[in-house]
Amino acid sequence: MSSPASSLMVRGYEVVIGLETHVQLSTQSKIFSGASTQFGAEPNTQSCPVDLALPGSLPVMNKGAVERAIEFGLAVGAHVAPRSIFARKNYFYPDLPKGYQISQYEIPVVQGGSVSFFVGDQPHTVRLVRAHLEEDAGKSLHDDFSGWQGEKSSGIDLNRAGTPLLEIVTEPDMHASVEAAEYARALHTLVVWLGICDGNMQEGSFRCDVNVSVRRPGAPLGTRREIKNLNSFKHIVQATDFEINWQIDELEDGRAIQQATVLFNPDTGETRAMRTKEDAHDYRYFPDPDLPPLVIAPEWVERVKAKMPELPRAKAESFERDFGLSTYDSAMLTQSKEFASYFDELVKWSGEPKLSANWMLGELSALMNKLQLPIGDPEIPNPVELGALIRRIKDGTISNQGAKTTFQELVSRKRAELENFAAALACVDAIIAEKDLKQMSDTGELERILDEVLAANAKSVEEFRAGKDKAFNALVGQAMKATKGKANPSAVNELLKKKLAG
Ligand code: ADP
Ligand code: MG
Repeated sequence: MSSPASSLMVRGYEVVIGLETHVQLSTQSKIFSGASTQFGAEPNTQSCPVDLALPGSLPVMNKGAVERAIEFGLAVGAHVAPRSIFARKNYFYPDLPKGYQISQYEIPVVQGGSVSFFVGDQPHTVRLVRAHLEEDAGKSLHDDFSGWQGEKSSGIDLNRAGTPLLEIVTEPDMHASVEAAEYARALHTLVVWLGICDGNMQEGSFRCDVNVSVRRPGAPLGTRREIKNLNSFKHIVQATDFEINWQIDELEDGRAIQQATVLFNPDTGETRAMRTKEDAHDYRYFPDPDLPPLVIAPEWVERVKAKMPELPRAKAESFERDFGLSTYDSAMLTQSKEFASYFDELVKWSGEPKLSANWMLGELSALMNKLQLPIGDPEIPNPVELGALIRRIKDGTISNQGAKTTFQELVSRKRAELENFAAALACVDAIIAEKDLKQMSDTGELERILDEVLAANAKSVEEFRAGKDKAFNALVGQAMKATKGKANPSAVNELLKKKLAG
């Protein structure tokens, strides 16, 4: 558990955060009906009598949704309840034809478990309270709905009504906005890795409600406000930070915090109260008489377990064990299944696990960020190409600096992707030759250059002799500059040391 360090205090207050995440499960049909869950269809073309709550229609549980919930439970080390109950959550809203939402209340299908992740290089673990199955509601359309005889009007699209959701609830274990965002990111990685959710945040397949309160250290938990429906990690940080400061302002001005549901406006960066928050008893929960208890036999759990992929955590542990990578690097390399298998393949070609990890987490990630492109995109060097480049670092042909130039060149020459290692190596060699990046290996020439550098930097030499270590780095820098980055830095280091000692 992460306990709040004093450095996490904001203006003398401790921040407490808990998340509820709605994960849309990747089934073809809805949770209690056979209608399609496909995104983007014409409004109201994918809602059947069950979704519309027509009299006489009855819900039937979708087995695929249950299996996805079981997979999730196993992946987070939770208890998968052998018997759980569907309940009616009663409220009135135009997008809810039945007047209630089918959800789980007292006995959810997944109980407990935890999610681990890094904030910077600090490991964190957040405990889960539960994950329960429920149906999504429809959607009110105000701007782009053409109604009766084509007139502009508001309307309801019930295509989304009945879409299967897994709502995942944490304990209030988080203490900073970035912690909440990194938890959400880790959860997103996990559900996409498992294949139980498509992870598309723009389309609403993964949305977070962030509960925030503040308190003086040692005081009881403060009253929370719940920021609804955040669908980007950036918004989680912005909305939470705004909310924290707003609550502290209120308290500092002598006002009490009212429990409320708030909305985040990405245009202004502000949160605003939408309604005062209902308590559970306002929903008049009761077991849904239309659905029998959800019974999950141990054999079913075993069958689901048998077809689950290797989990990100297990994959990361294998990177640590097999390649001697750090826990942090291993976690970063398993940020997606595609990233992890890119690494596996890269190591095959480069023969250098540590260098491969550094390049993926350094230059390659920076490039993906800059171009906003995923791994596997043709604009991003593939493992064969990057493997060829790393091979040339390993055999001493190019320095790390030279390799960076080669990499940039490889990227900017929009060539056809090279799948063949010999061809990739030839391409890398051609760049090295054209750009004159070959590392200086002739020690005679290097010695001559170093002598010149020492002569030209007498002041640094003097400072070094007087015990200033920084002066040595300055000399290395000058030497690298004089060789246009082509000298091998460790050779420069060694030779310089020898010369200065002599
Ligand atoms: P509801 O479903 O009505 O929103 P829950 O009891 O399920 O209520 O809690 C929702 C979330 O709020 C959980 O993630 C929980 O960790 C978090 N939470 C509860 N109390 C606080 C608090 N005082 N400050 C911040 N988060 C809280
Ligand atoms: Mg809530």
